[in-house]
Amino acid sequence: MILSLRKYELPKEFESVAKCKEENNIRVKHLRKEGKEEGRILALKIDECTKNYPCGSVACRLCSRASRILIFNRTKRFLETSNLPCFLVTIVYFQDAMTDAQLANLELGSLKSRLRKQLHRAGLKCEVIGSFELDYQSDIGLWMPHFHLLVFATRAEIEALRSLLLKKNVLKSLDRVHKPLRVDKIKKFDDLITYIYKFIWEDRKRFPIKKEYRKKKSGKEEYRTKKHRLSPDRHAMALLALDRSGFSGLRFSSGVPRFRHPLCMENVNDG
Ligand SMILES: [Zn+2]
Repeated sequence: MILSLRKYELPKEFESVAKCKEENNIRVKHLRKEGKEEGRILALKIDECTKNYPCGSVACRLCSRASRILIFNRTKRFLETSNLPCFLVTIVYFQDAMTDAQLANLELGSLKSRLRKQLHRAGLKCEVIGSFELDYQSDIGLWMPHFHLLVFATRAEIEALRSLLLKKNVLKSLDRVHKPLRVDKIKKFDDLITYIYKFIWEDRKRFPIKKEYRKKKSGKEEYRTKKHRLSPDRHAMALLALDRSGFSGLRFSSGVPRFRHPLCMENVNDG
């Protein structure tokens, strides 16, 4: 089955080629600064990337942009073919929080296969698409693995995942409530697609909220988080891990028949 692909208008905030080139210059600088051979090789690969000879690395903002445009168009088309309820689901695996050293040996196959099994056990045999992401959480000094997913099911059906995700999914050094499942209603699909497949790992900094902005009246300290660019050494680590994982390694899907899969190369005519 060949689906013809319309070119959809990209969201306004979508990164420009010029911005991607600027970002690549920073990436090359951080990778060279890292000093190791692997970093220098990736820096050269990104530095020499051109439109005619793309390097194909997730760590390259230009190649990542090209991939994001492709994914955006195909996912839009895919969404048009489904009229089922759909939610943005974020799943956090606290038990797999990683140190910098562990990040160097990141292996996504087992994480993805566990997620697939959990979806199955929760009775979610529906279509699920999305991707894997890591945030560095500076307050605990660890990388936190999570998935951003589009799940084509009702909120009640998705809730069946919660008890499964709470089992053993604990990080002892975390002195706060673990929330491994977040289910959000989708407001703007376009922004959401680019959010799910952004392929940028950042530093999620946690900070206390001023008393006057707290929601609870108990006087207890409340926190919020904000994403920041990673420090140069951690940025280099993240870029190397992104490069090793590859686009297909980072993407996740479950229950999508091959003939309908938005990213199955055989099914889509991009012309
Ligand atoms: Zn490239």
